[in-house]
Amino acid sequence: MKAAFLEALKQPLVIHDYASPDPVGNEVLLEQEITGICYRDVLTRDGFMPRVRLPIIPGHEISGRIVKAGPDVKDFRVGDRVASLIYSPCGKCEFCLRGDENLCPNKITFGEAVNGGYTKYVIARENSLVRVPDNVRPEDASLAACVTGMVYNALARVGQLQEGQRVLISGAGGGVGVHAVEMAKALGAYVIAETSFVFFFHAVEQDWRCSSCERRKFL
Ligand SMILES: [Zn+2]
Ligand SMILES: [Zn+2]
Repeated sequence: MKAAFLEALKQPLVIHDYASPDPVGNEVLLEQEITGICYRDVLTRDGFMPRVRLPIIPGHEISGRIVKAGPDVKDFRVGDRVASLIYSPCGKCEFCLRGDENLCPNKITFGEAVNGGYTKYVIARENSLVRVPDNVRPEDASLAACVTGMVYNALARVGQLQEGQRVLISGAGGGVGVHAVEMAKALGAYVIAETSFVFFFHAVEQDWRCSSCERRKFL
C-alpha cells in the first residue's frame, strides 16, 4: 500500500510504498475508508509542533474497521467499527483517571510522535478507541475526536450551554468556527456568528442559517 510521509519540515509530502505493520500488545490495525486532513497537519509540516519525529506519516483524524488485534486487546474485536482520539493517552496519570485525557502529559499524538492517518491501514492502541454506530458517516467519525469533540467540550462541558441561550461564535468562517456554529445550533442555542470575510459571511449566513450573522473587519 501507499502512505504519504513528511520527511523534512516545510517540504511537500512524499508518497512511498509502505508495508502494513502488525499490531502488538494492546494495539489494533484499522482499515480506514476515509481520513481527515486538518490544519494542524499543516502546522506540523511547517514546524510548529516541536516534538514531531521525522520521517512520519501525518494525520490524526482516524476511523475505520479493526482488521487485526494484538494479543492483549480486551475491549474490541476484529470487525468492530471505531474512531480514535487524536492521540493515545497513558491511561494512568491523574488527568487520564478523571477523564481529561486531552491534558495527559504522556499522550502520544498521531502524525507527530507515531505514524498517523495518511495511509489506509493505521496502528492504534485500544485505549484511544471508541465504537462508532453504523448510522455515523465515516467522514463524521474521523472528525469526531478533533474539531467536533473540541467544540462540544467548549460549548457543552466547559460553557454549559443550555437550550435557548445566546452564543457568539467569532471566526465563524474558519474550520473550527463552522463546526462550532453547527454544534451550538444542535444544542438549541441562538447563534450569533461573526466573520470578517465576505465569502465566509455569505456561507455562514445562507448555508448554516445562523440566528444572526455579522461581518466585521478587524484591522
Ligand atoms: Zn484535526
Ligand atoms: Zn495520562
